Amino acid sequence: MGYLKQHPDANGFFGEYGGAFIPPQLEPHFKAIAEAYDRIASDASYINELRYIRKHFQGRPTPVSHARNLSRAIGGANIYLKREDLNHSGAHKLNHCMGEALLAKHMGKKKLIAETGAGQHGVALATAAAYFGMECEIHMGEVDIAKEHPNVMRMKLLGATVVPVSFGARTLKEAVDSAFMSYMDQGEEAIYAIGSALGPHPFPKMVRAFQQIIGEEAREQFIEMTGELPDHAVACVGGGSNAIGLFSGFIEDPEVQLHGVEPLGKGPGKGNHAATITYGKPGQIHGFNCIVLADEEGNPDPVHSIASGLDYPGVGPEHSYLHDLGRATYGTADDKETLEAFYALSRYEGIIPALESSHAVAYAMKLAKGRNGQTILVNLSGRGDKDLDYVTENFGFGEDLSI
Ligand SMILES: *Cc1c(COP(=O)(O)O)cnc(C)c1O
Repeated sequence: MGYLKQHPDANGFFGEYGGAFIPPQLEPHFKAIAEAYDRIASDASYINELRYIRKHFQGRPTPVSHARNLSRAIGGANIYLKREDLNHSGAHKLNHCMGEALLAKHMGKKKLIAETGAGQHGVALATAAAYFGMECEIHMGEVDIAKEHPNVMRMKLLGATVVPVSFGARTLKEAVDSAFMSYMDQGEEAIYAIGSALGPHPFPKMVRAFQQIIGEEAREQFIEMTGELPDHAVACVGGGSNAIGLFSGFIEDPEVQLHGVEPLGKGPGKGNHAATITYGKPGQIHGFNCIVLADEEGNPDPVHSIASGLDYPGVGPEHSYLHDLGRATYGTADDKETLEAFYALSRYEGIIPALESSHAVAYAMKLAKGRNGQTILVNLSGRGDKDLDYVTENFGFGEDLSI
């Protein structure tokens, strides 16, 4: 039996990581989700409906592109991109949001509830809710609402209710608390839709299954293009959903090296980065075990990244496990390297990447050097339109690009 079938175990554990540590009132709801998912995962009508949606609504399969100019400019390995920026709504997140919403529909639920930080998950979930004609309630800190105005407008246009969260630091952590509280009162008619391959069981397993389409497509497309498997597969890691999606296509091919890329931000000091696996230790956060950045009492550290989709002090349990196993390696790109990659991909390939995805590109650019004859497949998790104003107003247009 292969790795994917064996992991996680029946209780959602990847070794010591994962599980579900939740308030007793929520236990029946998470159990119901796990059972419903196991039931429909092999149901032909569910599988066909998801297949139809991916093709006719999301625009899948997304292509693999050979980054010829960039590879030549660096001089080394050949870099290829799996183009999740071309998935509808501009990132990979819609892959799991459509899967979660379809599951909710099959469970007879009428409403989707979630939190959002920068608004990317909120927009993807609101898109899914509109498609299925469901209600959507997104909890968002007041600080983030002020910072991420365009995404708030998008969610409202898509028909979602945005609930401002006004306690504590008024950012992502409080939004999670607020969304959980609301879910406790509405568990019968609503489903809580987590935005990455993390959270209590069964979400890490489910989100991996929904994102696996990235790796499955990419493996087939890459072989068709080159006749071989890639030597390296690279993806950025926030919670870990786009990375696990790519990795799962190659995890049973031991000759493919898997690389997760964490945000090193302004450097290794506490509060300057969100490189959880690189600098963290085993612990617990938001109802599951994983590697965390936390103090001795387990309080999460403050985190920073130029890419707001990556700044979380925990990480998916499966990445924690793959790290300990040594099956995947986890490296970093800092804010400066990330900006260079953002400019380089725009200039050399005509593709403006999300700042999150730029971390993976930056790492691939470092990896490519001196590796002539090898190939690197990068998951380009999203497009950079959302980051244009921030980057150009603060850093200009990359006039002094050094490659
Ligand atoms: C949210 C986001 C990420 C980070 O989330 P993962 O779950 O780690 O994939 C990466 N890229 C983009 C474009 C995002 O929107």
